[in-house]
Amino acid sequence: MTAPAGAPVPSLVPNDLDAMWMPYTANRDFKAAPRLLAEAEGMTYRTPEGRAVLDGTAGLWCVNAGHGRRQIVDAITAQASRMDYAPSFQMGHPLMFEAASRIAAITPSGLDRIFFTNSGSESADTALKIALAYHRARGQGQRTVLIGRERGYHGVGFGGMSVGGIGANRRQFGSLLPKVDHLPHTHDLARNAFSCGLPAHGAELADALDARVALHGADTIAAVIVEPLAGSAGVLLPPQGYLERLRAACDRHGILLIFDEVITGFGRTGANFAAGRFGVTPDILTMAKGLTNAAVPMGAVAVSNAIHDAIVDGAPGGIELFHGYTYSGHPLACAAAIATIDLHRDEDLPGRVRSLEPVWEAAVHSLRTAPNVIDIRNFGLIGAIELSPRPGQPGARAMAVFKRCFAAGVLVRVTGDIVALSPPLIIETPQIERIVSVLGDAITAER
Ligand code: PLP
Repeated sequence: MTAPAGAPVPSLVPNDLDAMWMPYTANRDFKAAPRLLAEAEGMTYRTPEGRAVLDGTAGLWCVNAGHGRRQIVDAITAQASRMDYAPSFQMGHPLMFEAASRIAAITPSGLDRIFFTNSGSESADTALKIALAYHRARGQGQRTVLIGRERGYHGVGFGGMSVGGIGANRRQFGSLLPKVDHLPHTHDLARNAFSCGLPAHGAELADALDARVALHGADTIAAVIVEPLAGSAGVLLPPQGYLERLRAACDRHGILLIFDEVITGFGRTGANFAAGRFGVTPDILTMAKGLTNAAVPMGAVAVSNAIHDAIVDGAPGGIELFHGYTYSGHPLACAAAIATIDLHRDEDLPGRVRSLEPVWEAAVHSLRTAPNVIDIRNFGLIGAIELSPRPGQPGARAMAVFKRCFAAGVLVRVTGDIVALSPPLIIETPQIERIVSVLGDAITAER
């Protein structure tokens, strides 16, 4: 948003880039040629020089309702002047109960208990800890193995990183949680390249859980955590029938199923949560990002009543779960979450995604004939264009495409040699066309 008249204008151009150690960034490369964003409204960022940049990524998959939404800004502002902060340990404030009820009303039926965190990483770690605490509360404390999936991303905490399956995120940090294992990923270019929507092949990959059970013993496994649709590894879609099969396998063995919906939540797939769009309900569901439209950091974990009750009702008295954050249920974040949920309802953003899906699908697949494109995939308002790597330089081609797009006024995101698209859900057809046209030119220029 542009600053209101009379408001002090912060410096838009930093005079020194050294102090900030940037996250998930090639610091030396960035600081040699910084890319800065200083304002945002609707679908558009502005650089400090005033150049418009069309947002093809909703920030980092989080500004789902578009930038600078007045209802959210007003809700945060009003709450900031009413009460800045209240503790949530042995104390409460009305808004956090309201926010939890509002979230429970849009999560899949039965996932009615909400635990607040501040990020997707904290949500993943919270979910894993709740899974362990649940089994222990039922007298099955030997269930401690946590199973993730290759190429999965569950944030950067030690729990999420351990069940995560992206090599680069783990290699630097030595040994992680010891009792983890991974299912195979579902990305299969040989059988599924250029699928529109969910790929046809690969449901049987869910049966790999049976092999893990044979290895570890069912009675040692606490939970399986997957992204219903993996984003950070470059948009890996669940094959048709895969999630249903995974759900059935978990049920067979008494293993909890956790969906990490940090990027698939809040309308991205054409439903409030991907669980609803895919018709598969997990036992625990994590969220963050779109929950507050990214205006204030917040995450949450939705938990089945059975899990909640086993832990809370089964406790002898006193604190039932020794876990929480100073900012769990922060008042400003709660205000932002409630306003965001209102916006999604009033503008039917999930419905908007479903109606735009065919336009989106046709637009991203029109890049099929561009040079070096080896796959295109799409679902909801998500797209990915996978490029063949330059020989001996993995990731270099897509990074060059990303820089060209930014210079031409479109923000995309790259993972390895995959260009990922996830625009705000308020996008209009001409903006879809512009993203695809700029991206196509950039890919062609990097042939
Ligand atoms: N889980 C998933 C599926 C994500 O995509 C992300 C971030 O992209 C996270 C967890 C981590 O979220 P955060 O960066 O808010 O900690």
